[in-house]
Amino acid sequence: MNIAWFSELTKDDIPLVGGKGANLGEMTKAGLPVPEGFVVTAKAYESFIKASNLSKKLEEMLRVDVDDSAKLQAASKKIRKLIEATPVPEKIKKDVTRAYKKLGNGKDVYVAVRSSATAEDLPDASFAGQQETFLNTRGEEELLKNMRKCWSSLFTPRAIFYRIKHGFDHSKVLIAVVVQRMVDADKAGVMFTVHPATGEKDKLVIEGAWGLGEGVVSGTVTPDHYVMDKESERLLEKEIARKETMFIRNSKGRTEQVETPKEMQTKQVLSEEELVKITRLGKLLESHYGKPQDVEWAIEDGSDPYLTQTRPITVLYAEGEEKEEEAGEGRKVIVKGLGASPGTASGPVKILQNVEELDKVKEGDVLVTTMTNPDMVPAMKRAVAIVTEEGGMTCHAAIVSRELGIPSIVGTGNATQVLKDGMVITVDGSRGVVYEGSVKAVEAKPETVTVARPQVITATEVKVNLSVPDEKVARRMAAIADGVGLLRVEHIILGMGRHPISFIQGGDEEEFVERLYRDLKIVVDAFYPKIVYIRTLDAPTDEFRSMKGGEDEPYEHNPMLGWRGIRRGLDQPEILRAELKAIKRLVEENYTNIGVMIPLVHHPDQVREAKRIAEEVGVIPQRDVKFGIMVETPASAVAIEDFIKVGLDFISFGTNDLTQYTLALDRNNERVAKHFTEKHPAVLKLIQGVIDACNRHGVETSICGQAGSDPEVVKQLVKFGITSVSANPDAVEKVRETVAREEKRLLLENARRNAAGRST
Ligand code: PEP
Ligand code: MG
Repeated sequence: MNIAWFSELTKDDIPLVGGKGANLGEMTKAGLPVPEGFVVTAKAYESFIKASNLSKKLEEMLRVDVDDSAKLQAASKKIRKLIEATPVPEKIKKDVTRAYKKLGNGKDVYVAVRSSATAEDLPDASFAGQQETFLNTRGEEELLKNMRKCWSSLFTPRAIFYRIKHGFDHSKVLIAVVVQRMVDADKAGVMFTVHPATGEKDKLVIEGAWGLGEGVVSGTVTPDHYVMDKESERLLEKEIARKETMFIRNSKGRTEQVETPKEMQTKQVLSEEELVKITRLGKLLESHYGKPQDVEWAIEDGSDPYLTQTRPITVLYAEGEEKEEEAGEGRKVIVKGLGASPGTASGPVKILQNVEELDKVKEGDVLVTTMTNPDMVPAMKRAVAIVTEEGGMTCHAAIVSRELGIPSIVGTGNATQVLKDGMVITVDGSRGVVYEGSVKAVEAKPETVTVARPQVITATEVKVNLSVPDEKVARRMAAIADGVGLLRVEHIILGMGRHPISFIQGGDEEEFVERLYRDLKIVVDAFYPKIVYIRTLDAPTDEFRSMKGGEDEPYEHNPMLGWRGIRRGLDQPEILRAELKAIKRLVEENYTNIGVMIPLVHHPDQVREAKRIAEEVGVIPQRDVKFGIMVETPASAVAIEDFIKVGLDFISFGTNDLTQYTLALDRNNERVAKHFTEKHPAVLKLIQGVIDACNRHGVETSICGQAGSDPEVVKQLVKFGITSVSANPDAVEKVRETVAREEKRLLLENARRNAAGRST
């Protein structure tokens, strides 16, 4: 069986027609309007190899040392040339051309020709064959030529390398070729069956532009943006974009970007009737696959909409539920993890094994590593995106990338193995997926939904967490935040590359103090007169070890429960003193916007002692300098009254640690990450108790853990009466909106209650 029509296939036919072919069959069977087509089966490829006596030759040519990249490239080139030059056996040729004629009702129609890998059980199907796609193929000759190119894609250097390294038999891995009629679209676009930015499941987002879908998918054309209510199928929101250009198929059959006729540029692309039709297809798809879908659609000559692509939106699910995503044109998902900083960027991969290799990363590269550390910040600044194997939402890579405003994915588990140096990838930090190739599709989306709004004033202050002393970042954030709720000093210190003790004992304390003062000043100055809470050093021992002079760091069974925060600061007061000296220089320069914040306290005596040292150095008491603690241990929350007695201006919830210690869950352990939630009633109860006590005693309250960026938690905090919240840089605006809405809601509720009281 050389040919199989979509209408004859189901999802169980992967061995015969590959993943892509089976998916199209499944959609056709389910009554979904996919453009018609057929698959040249894996059997056809197998008989081509057999009939042309290629097996032996291939076997010989594949005897190559795959670690010798030049030899591997040469072998791949030779094999591909051979396959592409070998004539197609008559029988296959006849079957293919007959099917092609049938598809076009006797005419030479334009088709898309795509390879469809059968080895879906491999960890990454792209290793079974390159995802080749030939759009706008027309005529038998061209079809047969492109079909052979798809076949030969089974022998890219990467595919050969992978199969040899993993012991797969080349002759057992087959490839099918999908041939599908191309829709000559007047309008086309994408659809997400859940809201991609907010995750709301009752909404569906459609985007559309004039002409072929390429403009929307590649991000070159800003499309109209429509939000639909799934249940009622009513249009909730629309933004009509100026669509200056569009993609069309020209007389030579090539895709061309042309100027959109003036009268169409600002015209709404989709009628309400069409929006409802597309919405219904989205609902159908979602119920068919049982999962939210990311869909491409097209309308040709006023036809009903066609579906040209669908794939699951993975990150909305619980971890590890899903298999590999179905591949699209260059949109193969090759790595997944936790989306830690939103946005999309493409670039070549640079894998960093250690800090000596920092120079490898050039402007525009994607930095890939096991886990970043402060030494890597210069390279992180040059990167367009960051992917790590380890870490959660509060790891170094996550924090710094959010600050730098670049997309990042953490906790992928395998990025440094799957990705290779030089490989061009697209990092979608919102969805936590890495695509193969340069895909800008998603990039346009956040932009189309972002509408510039005037800043709202809120009674509850909205601050920002920072850790990189970068003037540009600081000034950008100072324009929208009410202060810095957490300046993480350890990122600055670890970034110096030399252990503070080594500076001090080596007679270079002055250098340490001066460097720290200069970095702190960047942020304090950018924010002046808005407050900056500078937190004294809190780095676990394992993070110090890699620094120059860090060789003597003790090995601890559990560094998270070990020698960190103020515990260490009091054991090595020379470090704490040096930090305070740097802060004092700022005070002496009349910066009146400083708060000193003590981390990881578990006993009031620790705070008393830290305060005494701060007084000794002369940082306090000073007019305007505030002194406070982080509430990160259940002990400090439960006994908050005793801490307040020491004399505090403010407290700030470190919910990353407070949650870790309350629930006994290592915050860096991906295995237990699914249990980690700040919304646990025990954590919220501790927070509420502390806020109540602080409000009674006139102590300001804030939050600088990750939960301060979560609108759901923020709503609760405003209700509890928190003084301020501090969010990650990318969340400040969203958090402010949440705060504003919650404050208004509370006021209304109160007013209603009062009115009801008066009328009774
Ligand atoms: C916290 O624990 O919530 C916090 C903000 O501190 P860090 O994440 O640096 O431990
Ligand atoms: Mg902490």
